Amino acid sequence: MVTVTITTKFHNPSLSRRKEWQHAARLYRDTKQFCIDGWENGDFDKSVTTASIDNDLYSAIQNQAIREAKADHSKDGEVRYRESQPFAVNNQNWEIDTTENGTVVVGSPCISQWWYTPIEVYDDIVDPVDRLVKGDANKTRLQIYRRGDDWFCTFNIEYDADTSGETAIGVDIGERHILAVTAYGEGESMLVSGDEAKYVRRKYRSLRESLSEAGALRARNRVGDKEQRRIKDLNHKLSRRLIRFAEQFENPVIRIEDLEGIRENSSWSGVHSWHFHQLQQFMTYKAERAGIRVEEVDPSRTSQECSACGSMGTRDEDHFLCSECGRGRHADLNASENIAQREGEPCTA
Ligand SMILES: [Zn+2]
Repeated sequence: MVTVTITTKFHNPSLSRRKEWQHAARLYRDTKQFCIDGWENGDFDKSVTTASIDNDLYSAIQNQAIREAKADHSKDGEVRYRESQPFAVNNQNWEIDTTENGTVVVGSPCISQWWYTPIEVYDDIVDPVDRLVKGDANKTRLQIYRRGDDWFCTFNIEYDADTSGETAIGVDIGERHILAVTAYGEGESMLVSGDEAKYVRRKYRSLRESLSEAGALRARNRVGDKEQRRIKDLNHKLSRRLIRFAEQFENPVIRIEDLEGIRENSSWSGVHSWHFHQLQQFMTYKAERAGIRVEEVDPSRTSQECSACGSMGTRDEDHFLCSECGRGRHADLNASENIAQREGEPCTA
């Protein structure tokens, strides 16, 4: 299941509906506080219904307010809602649709009527919104709220991941080659040398050491900052290259080892493991923005097994040789082929 959280702006809502939304947000707060106070004072029990709520909100909104108050009341401590609250309706009581000219519109109840208002569909959310409009995805609760002069809505879109026709992109992160990438079944791969990362690490380490000897602590810390910036730039560059590679293929899904695996397969542990963690985060984040799923896979024996037959092989520097089927392969690409073939867990940025 894929869940995408959508937060977007309403496009030029009229003054009358902004006024009504503002009013609804206040009534929503009042409704929730009314329930909390009633439960605390023993005026009514938990089974309170909209019949007890005396205001002009649509009952679907009142129901949602009761549900939310109930959830807040079940937590420890006193509940006081000081400001107006985002008002909300459950998934069944709002709509999303397109007008004849293709504008995406959110329809939801309020006080006097249902309002249908265009929303901004920016590039990052075109795909999930399109699925929802076509009926290929489910929506959750809708919340409407104000920030500054603008009005926003937020909701989740959920759909089953389409795994048919996917191209698995296996990514091995290592030291000799910082990236070894294979598009499984496509016969395409990419190797990125680890020299630049090694150079940065070595350069700043020796700088730090000489400054330590000289007792120049502040200068030493500045070197640390510079090194972090260099590595960050490098990680941005590497993750961009990966996304560009993946985008060449039909329905790419990126598979990477979990962090433990990356640590095990390299000597860059300890202080330098944040490099990998950051690289993994950047890759996941950029992939998400490009609409590409990322999965973490079990990292065990990815560099020892033959990616063709699964038997154990031997590694001699960059060369992997399978002792069973006799296949020879670049060692890091063999590992990335193993990673590509494993089923993984969704990885989120
Ligand atoms: Zn083999």
